[in-house]
Amino acid sequence: MAPSNPKNDKAPEIGEEAAGAPTHFIKEIIEADNTSGKHDGRVATRFPPEPNGYLHIGHAKSICLNFGLAAEFGGTCNLRFDDTNPSKEEVEYVNAIMADVRWLGYDWDHRLYYSSDYFDKLYELAVGLINKGKAYVCDLSAEEGRKGRGAFGKPGTNSPFRDRGVEENLDLFGRMRAGEFDEGSRVLRAKIDMAAPNMNLRDPTLYRILKAEHHRTGDKWCIYPTYDFAHGQSDALEAITHSLCTLEFENHRPLYDWFLDNLDVEHRPRQIEFAKLNLSYTVLSKRRLLEMVTDDFVSGWDDPRMPTLVGLRRRGIPAAAIRNFCDRVGVAKREGVVDITLLEHAIREELNETSPRVMGVLRPLKVVIENYPEDQVEEFDCPYHPVKPEMGTRKVPFSRVLYIERGDFMENAPKKFYRLDVGREVRLRYAYLITCTDVIKDEAGEIIELRCSYDPDTRGGNAPDGRKVKSTMHWVSVPHALGAQVRLYDRLFGAQNPLEGDDWKASFNADSLEVLTDCAVEPSLASAEAGFQVQFERQGYFCVDTVDSAPDKLVFNRTVSLRDAWAKIQKAQQQNQASQKKNKQKNKNKQKNKNKQQNKQESK
Ligand code: ATP
Ligand code: MG
Repeated sequence: MAPSNPKNDKAPEIGEEAAGAPTHFIKEIIEADNTSGKHDGRVATRFPPEPNGYLHIGHAKSICLNFGLAAEFGGTCNLRFDDTNPSKEEVEYVNAIMADVRWLGYDWDHRLYYSSDYFDKLYELAVGLINKGKAYVCDLSAEEGRKGRGAFGKPGTNSPFRDRGVEENLDLFGRMRAGEFDEGSRVLRAKIDMAAPNMNLRDPTLYRILKAEHHRTGDKWCIYPTYDFAHGQSDALEAITHSLCTLEFENHRPLYDWFLDNLDVEHRPRQIEFAKLNLSYTVLSKRRLLEMVTDDFVSGWDDPRMPTLVGLRRRGIPAAAIRNFCDRVGVAKREGVVDITLLEHAIREELNETSPRVMGVLRPLKVVIENYPEDQVEEFDCPYHPVKPEMGTRKVPFSRVLYIERGDFMENAPKKFYRLDVGREVRLRYAYLITCTDVIKDEAGEIIELRCSYDPDTRGGNAPDGRKVKSTMHWVSVPHALGAQVRLYDRLFGAQNPLEGDDWKASFNADSLEVLTDCAVEPSLASAEAGFQVQFERQGYFCVDTVDSAPDKLVFNRTVSLRDAWAKIQKAQQQNQASQKKNKQKNKNKQKNKNKQQNKQESK
């Protein structure tokens, strides 16, 4: 029986990983606020997804940051759906987002909110602005409105409707709400400054007419608040203290603050911007990811190549690896692109701890051990983990006919190819030393079978005479093997930054999925459940696919190979630093010697 993977699906409690996490400028702001007593030591954050797509790993950074800070400072984090645009939002996304946040290990308890919960309140606040003479109904068309806003360095012009009286504005706004006007015919705008250098302050729109059914409020409303108006006020209504968002909203902060200055709200949250996560060889944007799905580049939002949380999960990436990755990436004020090998490194680190080792042959080549008795079967007791005896062992059957990896044999192999060739001896993991004696080919000259002999004295894999072999290979007994399909994934895009060119889809990696249909895995995997993660020795980490796998038709996804590009980069960096240090020392010594020589010369 295969063991179950150890569970590591809850985010760490305070005092565990969270307290050890590196500090950053947002933590410093919170610490300073706590010291000055700004919010009476309260820390309240929120994660505010718009339910118009599935979450991706960029969102994970925001989730880990918001929920993580709340946990670290003994505060709270709300989950708030920013559902102010009924035309693009769907219940399917709401449910998927909740499942994803939970899967990442975070819990909003009872604090689940929707911006649409505040539609009545937001309407009241807008009426309040009209009453103060700080908002007006504008009848300009969208095009006229855009023109009137001017451009960077060029002031806008006042709308001819800017000086409408309060009564007229109240009447028109009420009639907008009552559905008397067509979509696009009128908007409610804040009255700020059409010459403001910051374009966001040039009488921004607060409400637009949208005769669309909303997934929660049905047809109650035909006017909807804009992001800027709804977002900040939702923060204030929920008594958020630190409202974290990505850098593109930096220019919106003056507007965020203008609303707080001009509305009668009790709490005053502070907006703080941080750099988005960008990852090499992929795109992180719901709109673009949706295009990948609708244009059939991938099989769906949960295609294991997608950087979505559903995709990463299906691929077998543990939530803990994503949390560790987000921690390492850190929180900065300047955008950059994170190397995807850092994510792969975090995945390997986690899976190395939790994955039982088993044997699976991806591209099988038959081996007949001619001196092994025809009907004999032996069982070897094999540990699931090299350094974790607590993970237990399983019995692996060995017989006369085996599969090995096709790539582990080469005819007339060069000396440095340590694996199998005619006349060479190798170790079969946990079993015996075998020597290849002959190669059998089909009419086309393709190798279809190897003939080998085994040394019965090497049971367990060691020779009593102490002779050494260079290679240890994995294998599966043919009569006991389970057939399986294995899906190998590569990067979604060939280009490091797909957005750099004219057509971001042009660098889609058409070879990003390779399906192997004739794989053979050891029989202990018969009971492996969907999602179960293993290491196929020498190959990588794999998991049982949660969608297509069935007990009689096993399907495995390769989560990540064993090759650790990041570790290599790190090693190279370290070596580089070491050699630089050495060179410096060398130069210093040279200089010293030179000086000595000179001194000698001079004293002569
Ligand atoms: P996208 O561009 O993919 O549609 P979005 O920002 O429009 O993303 P939202 O649902 O509005 O998506 O985002 C919810 C939260 O996640 C926001 O606070 C947003 O700033 C944050 N977020 C989105 N993308 C990233 C990212 N790449 N890195 C960090 N945080 C992100
Ligand atoms: Mg958005």
